[in-house]
Amino acid sequence: MNQIQPDILVIDDKPDNLRVLFSLLHRHDYNVREALNWQTTVDMCKTKLPDLILLDIMMPDIDGYEICHQLKKWQLTADIPIIFISALNDVFDKVKAFNSGCVDYISKPFAFEEVLARINNHLELRRAKMEILQLNTELENRVKKRTQDLENALKELQNSVNIRQELQTKLLNIVLHDSLTGLPNRVLFIRKLEKALQQAKEESSYKFAVLFLDCDRFKVINDSLGHLVGDELLVAIARRLQASLSPFDTLSRLGGDEFGIILENITDINSAIILAEEILQKLSIAFKLSRYEVFMNASIGINWGSRDYEKPEYLLRDADTAMYRAKALGRARYHVFDPIMYQEAIKLLQLENDLRRAVERQEFLVFYQPIVSLSTGKITALEALVRWQHPTRGLVSPIEFIPASEEIGLINQINLWVLQTACETISTWYEQKLLDDSLCISVNLSARLFSQRDLISQIDSIIEQTKINPIYLKIEITESVIMGNSIAIKNILYQLKERKINLIMDDFGTGYSSLSYLHSFPFNSLKIDKTFVKRMQENQENMGLVPAMIGIAHSMGMTAIAEGVETPEQLAQLRNLNCDYAQGYLFSRPLPQELIIDLISSSPQW
Ligand code: C2E
Ligand code: MG
Ligand code: MG
Repeated sequence: MNQIQPDILVIDDKPDNLRVLFSLLHRHDYNVREALNWQTTVDMCKTKLPDLILLDIMMPDIDGYEICHQLKKWQLTADIPIIFISALNDVFDKVKAFNSGCVDYISKPFAFEEVLARINNHLELRRAKMEILQLNTELENRVKKRTQDLENALKELQNSVNIRQELQTKLLNIVLHDSLTGLPNRVLFIRKLEKALQQAKEESSYKFAVLFLDCDRFKVINDSLGHLVGDELLVAIARRLQASLSPFDTLSRLGGDEFGIILENITDINSAIILAEEILQKLSIAFKLSRYEVFMNASIGINWGSRDYEKPEYLLRDADTAMYRAKALGRARYHVFDPIMYQEAIKLLQLENDLRRAVERQEFLVFYQPIVSLSTGKITALEALVRWQHPTRGLVSPIEFIPASEEIGLINQINLWVLQTACETISTWYEQKLLDDSLCISVNLSARLFSQRDLISQIDSIIEQTKINPIYLKIEITESVIMGNSIAIKNILYQLKERKINLIMDDFGTGYSSLSYLHSFPFNSLKIDKTFVKRMQENQENMGLVPAMIGIAHSMGMTAIAEGVETPEQLAQLRNLNCDYAQGYLFSRPLPQELIIDLISSSPQW
């Protein structure tokens, strides 16, 4: 009720009554309107809704009860407080009045104060009611708005959760896939392998196999044609592999040039073998890249998905081991894993660990084997041969540990230590006059050392420290060193030659070096491998290749040393062939330093 003057509608059929109430109320600042019957009441209410209605009961057409009833039924007026003013004073009338919906009942004749007080009360009540109503509406609106706000906030949250989830899926996709080929990466591959393994453990009918594929000599492509071509090739390989698989199989790029395959729902290992053969066949066809046509083979290791495996990593490891065996057997082929290979791999790993420890603890020894001049029959040189004094296995042969130490990068340390020790020992013996000072020391150097940039300066510093005269130092290298015929190697060899160090080509005949370029390296001697010396006896008439080898050495201005001489017959034959030097068990096995010095001091002659 926002009007200052409350609006009161008085309904009475008697104009006198109306007049009385009108003048009384008007005096008290009420806005009063009058209606004589139902029709005018309706019109009045339509024009403006009153704040309160004073209603007479007894009226000619429609009585007060009916009017009250109608007003209460009418939505527009239902809330307007109605007070009856009537001469009827019976309880029955009052009850009927209240039943028809009035809020109060004033009996005539009335005291005007009472009328005023009741009117005020009900106006007040109505005001309070309206206020509550308004407050309620406001509250409702506020609740509605809050609900809407909350709904909006929820929607926004849901949106950002969706975006985040999408992003997460994208990220997960990136994390679990190889960016170059789009294939699952190692992490995802291991997960899938784990699933397959789990399924195999649960369902005896479910069988699977793992294939580990490594490209053969991929590095050559990268090094010669560049990484972009390498990448292009990897994508092409991935496509060819995918084309050989069913949609149920998993192909993954495990890293570099390695791929993994999980072959599911197969009946036996033959399915894996057939697939490997198909892959090898497909890979053997040239790859037509954007600028080059290249050939790329691969080696494949196959492992049966046995349910006995504890972890998927072990399954993959064994497929990897089988792949290595395929490479060792000549590449471009497959190999099926068998557990013995695992034992061998473990042994190799153990050997590598032991070797690292051996280097730290200096568990190596140098043995010496005499080299005899066939013209004088006397010892002219010693070959230093390394031994490993293993804490539990005793003396270990270099044949067993040199290749492994080359593989794991320990050869430089071990080999330079041998060189240093041999030079030191021989130099001390010269000083102590235990040796004739023309006796030479021959040391084997691994091909790996030649890729070390500071090899020459290392050798220089050993020479300087041990005070050995380099003319008594011989270095033995195998054919593999010169096989690349590289300028860098040639350069190193010439620098050694400049220092007057003797160069011996060891194991001559076992490699593939070409005689035409052997000529361009500054070797002093060829050491004929023991296998040829051995065959000399089997092949009495022409003595195999040995005469030719001695001939080659001499024709190139080099001396010939025969290795592995075990019998007096061999010695005699070599002498006949004018071989210059010989070495072998016939003279002496390689001996530790105390024993070799004893042997030398006994001045043997053969
Ligand atoms: P190598 O340089 O050809 O050494 C000769 C090998 O033949 C030695 O084996 C020696 O004991 C063996 N031998 C000598 N005379 C006879 C014989 O009459 N009959 C038979 N059957 N064998 C004989 P070892 O000491 O086991 O060394 C094997 C190989 O290990 C060496 O072959 C050499 O290639 C390598 N090696 C040894 N010490 C070193 C080293 O300090 N550095 C490097 N890089 N390699 C080494
Ligand atoms: Mg040697
Ligand atoms: Mg040899």
